[in-house]
Amino acid sequence: MANFYDDNEDLRFYLERGLDWDRLVRLTEHDFRAPEGFSSTDEALEFYREVLELVGAFAADEIAARARELDRCRPELRGGEIVYPEAMQGVFDALNDLELNGMTLPRELGGLNVPMLIFQVQNEIFARADVSICAHHGFHGGIAMAALMFSIIEGSAGFDPELPGFTEVRFREVIDSILAGESWGSMDITEPDAGSDMAALRCRGELGADGSWTVTGQKIFITSGHGRWHFVIARTEEPGDADDAFAGLAGLSMFLVEAYSVDEDGNKVRTHTTLDGVEEKLGHHGSATVAISFEGAPAQLIGARGEGFKYMLMLMNGARVGVGFEALGLCEAAHRAAAAYAGERRSMGKTIDQHEMIADYLDEMQTDIRGIRALAMAAGYKDELAKKIEIKLRLQPPADPAQRRALEREQERLKRRARHLTPLLKYLASEKAVEIARRAIQIHGGSGYITESGVEKLLRDAMVMPIYEGTSQIQALMAMKDNLMAAVNHPRTFVRTAARARWRAVSAPDPAGRRVARLVTLQHQAIQFLLSRLAGHKLKELRHQPVGSWSSALRSFDPKRDFALAMLHAEHLCVLLTDVAVAEELLEQAREHEDRLPVLEAWLDRAEPRSRHMLDRIQTTGGRLLSKLHGTPAESYVQAAK
Ligand SMILES: Cc1cc2nc3c(=O)[nH]c(=O)nc-3n(C[C@H](O)[C@H](O)[C@H](O)COP(=O)(O)OP(=O)(O)OC[C@H]3O[C@@H](n4cnc5c(N)ncnc54)[C@H](O)[C@@H]3O)c2cc1C
Repeated sequence: MANFYDDNEDLRFYLERGLDWDRLVRLTEHDFRAPEGFSSTDEALEFYREVLELVGAFAADEIAARARELDRCRPELRGGEIVYPEAMQGVFDALNDLELNGMTLPRELGGLNVPMLIFQVQNEIFARADVSICAHHGFHGGIAMAALMFSIIEGSAGFDPELPGFTEVRFREVIDSILAGESWGSMDITEPDAGSDMAALRCRGELGADGSWTVTGQKIFITSGHGRWHFVIARTEEPGDADDAFAGLAGLSMFLVEAYSVDEDGNKVRTHTTLDGVEEKLGHHGSATVAISFEGAPAQLIGARGEGFKYMLMLMNGARVGVGFEALGLCEAAHRAAAAYAGERRSMGKTIDQHEMIADYLDEMQTDIRGIRALAMAAGYKDELAKKIEIKLRLQPPADPAQRRALEREQERLKRRARHLTPLLKYLASEKAVEIARRAIQIHGGSGYITESGVEKLLRDAMVMPIYEGTSQIQALMAMKDNLMAAVNHPRTFVRTAARARWRAVSAPDPAGRRVARLVTLQHQAIQFLLSRLAGHKLKELRHQPVGSWSSALRSFDPKRDFALAMLHAEHLCVLLTDVAVAEELLEQAREHEDRLPVLEAWLDRAEPRSRHMLDRIQTTGGRLLSKLHGTPAESYVQAAK
């Protein structure tokens, strides 16, 4: 019988030896102090493996085997509610029966207390079978976990360190009903006139005379928005200075809205919300994408007013890591379909996988998939560790001040790295999902274009990945801004790390280490070049001064207005940053596990020329376009082509 976990050696590497599970398991299991918890890391890992084997078999037998039939199904809006066709409803019912909705919730809340990373791996496995089924399923456990996190962060959760465990959690009804398989939730951000530009959000949160909140406005493109629980971001404060694109973000607040109640006969009763429609889409058919209106809908404010963007980022960052794993599953499906077909289809005397170009495509797909998985595991692992240490510091901080400071430093370091990796993962995985699915069609030739092969579905499903949860362009802009501002705010650290990379490029003991260091120097060159051209002619005088002296001058600039060249090249820089980040993660693996060296070398063979090309583009192109857009001389932006 097929099993999407067992048959994936690269995936199993991370469960078996690729990560420091002891650190994560101890944090998850409160150092094995809970009476009903595991007593060792090995025992916990054995359980995680069993869960993933169950998921792997279900994904292969119950979802993948029906993927084409499910793709033909369409959720419909009937009588004001979404109705799934029978086949699709059957899959969701069977998924509920697996009782995995509370997978990551603590045991005292009825969950299995499994790390978020295992939930993400589950998503990869489900997405390999069908990405839209995976997406809808994810809005069960993911939303229950978000409810718990929100309660912890706003300070409404009670925790007894003696048990150890939670004694009280706000939003308990959300968690309980999701655990019981009765409902799910959604993340309601996008509006007709506000997608990437969240400062333009207009949905309003209003405070009544009795101190209760209501939400009014329309949200569109909401995945699984026909559910009961909605985390809605709405404006509670007037926008600030209209010139400042970010001013509006400070006026947003996060709310929980119960979209309907359930009467004694089990019927949904809506009084303040209306489902306006369900979208007809290119793909992703197992997931209903709806428009929903709120008309004075009673709402619970989460945290303080004006903190909406903070809570939204928390939701979204987790969701972006989720899309990374989801896209990875789709890539895996596309590569396997292409490799299987190419191994059987003959042309000009041999199977097509023996033709050099096709062999190269298949090799690149596999190299990319291993790179994405390294990035996904690193981002997911570090994000979870950072969150769990933050929770520990809030709920059971060490009594010894030195230990506490050490933990705070570790948390800061992990959070910084997770923040660096998350947009790179979202960007790389979703762009590659499209590229790899397209290649899979090409390798299938005419059969790939015909629906019967099932590979054209993969491309249709993949196309949404670079769009939702923040488009690829938004990920690239975030990565660019973070990296440039880090160099501006900490110029000495930037200069020191650049010098260290140059030194390692010649002195690292292993050839692979030297290759990775050379790649890192390209990243530094790109950042230094963009900073040197920052604000074009305004900063001419800084170009010949050491980077370490730039900090105060650069801080007086508005990054949104003055980063024109960097905005233009954000995607090129993002590709370079991603190449480096993957190489760094794979180098760490190769130094610990010799058999991972070929994985790193394969990545470097592709990444080195690509990164050189990105640096060249950044340094030599864009002047003509920016000159047209902003009326400044082209030569103030770029250097002459080499
Ligand atoms: C199937 C599906 C499911 C979805 N699920 C949800 C959900 O559950 N919840 C939710 O809230 N939303 C959801 N969305 C909405 C999704 O998050 C938005 O579509 C996305 O954020 C882009 O916003 P937009 O469509 O308004 O495009 P726009 O913001 O108008 O962008 C259009 C294009 O311009 C580019 N662009 C915009 N600004 C810049 C800039 N400053 N620099 C460079 N390029 C820029 C974008 O990258 C994009 O290519 C979903 C969408 C789809 C299609």
